[in-house]
Amino acid sequence: MTNEWDAVIFGGGAAGLSAAQMLGRSRRRVLVIDAGMPRNRFADHMHGVLGHDGVDPAALLARGRAEAERYGVVISVGTVDEIADDGDRLRISRSDGRVDWARALVIASGVRDDLPDVPGLRKEWGRSVLHCPYCHGWEVAGQRLGVLAASPASIHQIELVRQLSDDVTAFTAAVGPLGEAVAGRLAARGVAIEPAHVREVVRRDDGLAVLTGDGAEHVVDALFTGGEPDLGLGFADALRLTRSDQPGAPIAADLRGATSHPRVFAAGNATMPFANVPVAMGTGSMAGAAANAMLATEDFDLAVAQRTVLRDAEWEARYAAEDRFWSGRVNASVAAIVADLTPGRALDVGSGEGGDVVWLAEHGWDATGVDVSATAVRRAAEFAASRDVAATFVEGDGPAAVDGRFDLVLASFLHSWEPDFPRIRMLREAADRVAPGGLLLVVSHAAPPPWAREAPAHAPAMRTPAEELVLLDLDPETWSPEIVEVRQRDATAPDGTAAHLDDGILLLRRLR
Ligand SMILES: Cc1cc2nc3c(=O)[nH]c(=O)nc-3n(C[C@H](O)[C@H](O)[C@H](O)COP(=O)(O)OP(=O)(O)OC[C@H]3O[C@@H](n4cnc5c(N)ncnc54)[C@H](O)[C@@H]3O)c2cc1C
Repeated sequence: MTNEWDAVIFGGGAAGLSAAQMLGRSRRRVLVIDAGMPRNRFADHMHGVLGHDGVDPAALLARGRAEAERYGVVISVGTVDEIADDGDRLRISRSDGRVDWARALVIASGVRDDLPDVPGLRKEWGRSVLHCPYCHGWEVAGQRLGVLAASPASIHQIELVRQLSDDVTAFTAAVGPLGEAVAGRLAARGVAIEPAHVREVVRRDDGLAVLTGDGAEHVVDALFTGGEPDLGLGFADALRLTRSDQPGAPIAADLRGATSHPRVFAAGNATMPFANVPVAMGTGSMAGAAANAMLATEDFDLAVAQRTVLRDAEWEARYAAEDRFWSGRVNASVAAIVADLTPGRALDVGSGEGGDVVWLAEHGWDATGVDVSATAVRRAAEFAASRDVAATFVEGDGPAAVDGRFDLVLASFLHSWEPDFPRIRMLREAADRVAPGGLLLVVSHAAPPPWAREAPAHAPAMRTPAEELVLLDLDPETWSPEIVEVRQRDATAPDGTAAHLDDGILLLRRLR
């Protein structure tokens, strides 16, 4: 389906496009959905952005879009109005009815500035009405400046603006009477305090006229103010993302942009309303990389799961292709060791057609075999019935398919030609199933049979029991090795000649 994406990003401001670059350059299928209203669209030049000083913000984004598209990122105009968790992916709905699905999401939807409700103010926003001394302060330095206080945080803004000019008027009605300490502090640096309510601002030839409720007019060259950040995150309500306690309750995200949802990352003003363009770029870049890292991990997890399914199917195909695969006789080394043991509960991991399990049951063990092949399990059950012994056979992928602990856990010739066969992991899982005081018996090919010395180049090396003991890395306080040796046994080669096989024997007792 064309609307299935590795990652969907919205929107397409400095943060979203930076995330898009990281994901696009990682060869992900990426869609950017953007309503096309970046926060700084009211300004025609930006500052504080290294290497881009004075550049038109729209030009920066146009360049960012072209760069992202070069890496295959699709950019689409639209407004996301709902995101829903759909299990292993997210469902993203737009206001025009279009729907997309993604395995990862980067929210970079920015903020909208809710300006003080003063007629004339919004019209001048980004021109002579400013919010950020770092972004536009230098350009008005030394001029007649005003600060329209909007919240207690505005006192700090007044202090920053005073750094730019000796001629600063603070309109403080919105924060109420200042109190002696604050008023004295502002007066100490020559800030004029105007407590009357600001009723309108009007652009005039000689500057921006700030009209106050007491009938006075104060003409300034620029008026700084701040707005309540409005994040407009209603579209993400269903995800129940954790929000931070900063003004505007932005999305809580760590340094990599990870949120409380494992598939959702966030960046830019959506996580930090105070972030400028470079910070938006940096957090966007991190969020894009983190989303790609999550996807890469998931790709490997999926491949392993798929490989296991294929491996199980391959074993089934091998059994199903022949009437009978193995001899049905117990392995001589197993018989020799188990003969001296007191019967109890036994589990055979990779029991095949049931030769060892049936032998164990005939010798008094309460024996269970587990194998991935349904055909092998069926044949093993038929074999047990033909010998009139009670034994249990379970179809499943290793020891995890059965419950409980056993006095003897046997893994006999648990080999495969596959390079990624997880033998050591399966042997560890087998060890977990041994009851305290019980035994783990691993019988294996310590060397290929003499008639098959030329194994495929990619086949896993056959190891000695001593080498496997090291790889198993079992807790020495819990496990005591009883036999670690290679034994030779007589065998008959496929051409009928006599031969010897090297069996690796590893017998470990669980102490606790
Ligand atoms: C007037 C003004 C001037 C500024 N000047 C400077 C400056 O000179 N230097 C500087 O460093 N910083 C400046 N800033 C700050 C700068 O605007 C932000 O740092 C920057 O825009 C944050 O980038 P962002 O990607 O997080 O969000 P934005 O740039 O705001 O991008 C968010 C995008 O998401 C889209 N969107 C939102 N909701 C949805 C939705 N539901 N579906 C689809 N798309 C959606 C929006 O339309 C927008 O295109 C200024 C800010 C203002 C207000």
